[in-house]
Amino acid sequence: MNPFSYVSATDTSSAVELAAKGAKYLAGGTNLVDLMRQGIETPHELVDITRLPLADIEEHAGGLRIGALVRNTRVAADERIRDRYPVLAQAILNGASPQLRNRATVGGNLMQRTRCGYFYDRHSACGKRDPGSGCDALDGFNRTHAILGTSESCVAVHPSDMCVALAALDAVVNIAGRDPVPLVDFHRLPGDTPHLETVLAPGELVTSIDLPPAQPGRSVYLKVRDRASYAFALVSVAAVVRMEAGRATGVRIALGGVAAKPWRAYEAERLLTGTTLDDELIHQAAEQALTGSRPRAHNAFKAELARRLIRRALQGVRS
Ligand code: SF4
Repeated sequence: MNPFSYVSATDTSSAVELAAKGAKYLAGGTNLVDLMRQGIETPHELVDITRLPLADIEEHAGGLRIGALVRNTRVAADERIRDRYPVLAQAILNGASPQLRNRATVGGNLMQRTRCGYFYDRHSACGKRDPGSGCDALDGFNRTHAILGTSESCVAVHPSDMCVALAALDAVVNIAGRDPVPLVDFHRLPGDTPHLETVLAPGELVTSIDLPPAQPGRSVYLKVRDRASYAFALVSVAAVVRMEAGRATGVRIALGGVAAKPWRAYEAERLLTGTTLDDELIHQAAEQALTGSRPRAHNAFKAELARRLIRRALQGVRS
């Protein structure tokens, strides 16, 4: 590991000032420390932000505000989350291991890097790690990679479960010193600049996530992975549906494991809104959600897997 200095921040503005000069924020460290050990991240300085007052979950504007430093375990265990936003608790409990969830923070979950194997192998070409160097995943072993929103520069996926649920809940990301950003707009698609993963400028700090007022209805998070015990999603689906008088008056569907960001299936949502969610329409919506998917050599199975998972999720929440 490269030598680095360590500072413990006591207020947000001094932390942001240090990070703007190239320091990296340290919170749970569950991803960053691994990246530093492997020489993928080489910060000259770490700013420990765990003493900042960003570790509360509080009522806000009829919904909840979750501080960026709240640990994942605590979010999933919070009674208000479990009662009003169960899809979020389910998604978090589907991610990582209990030990990691005890350390990992909400802000870190948003900011975690892809688990593309080529990104972690410094002998491979990876434009996300070394801008402009190419992408060995394009013609390599790309079974776990993206099928939506890809480019010829990068086909990596964002690994978070939590963010998929947040996308389906229309969550908003609060950032120190600037306007909030809807979570669905927070992560970038790769385009020609796969090293730019979020809309944050250098040094900007996520301070909290806002959940809008909970809508009455049902929700579910489904995840398919290679190992039930602990693995990132091959495909996941968060579905949030409000049924009134037998019709769906609100439908939100987000996919994980298929793109560089949580992927909202807006056209599929539109197709289903106002309907009785019968099987034929659900089938059409699942087809619609994967329109434009571009599999590589080893991940064509993901499109069909996603369709099946969407159907299962919607059939489960429509009653
Ligand atoms: Fe790097 Fe993205 Fe290619 Fe993986 S898919 S090797 S992260 S550029």
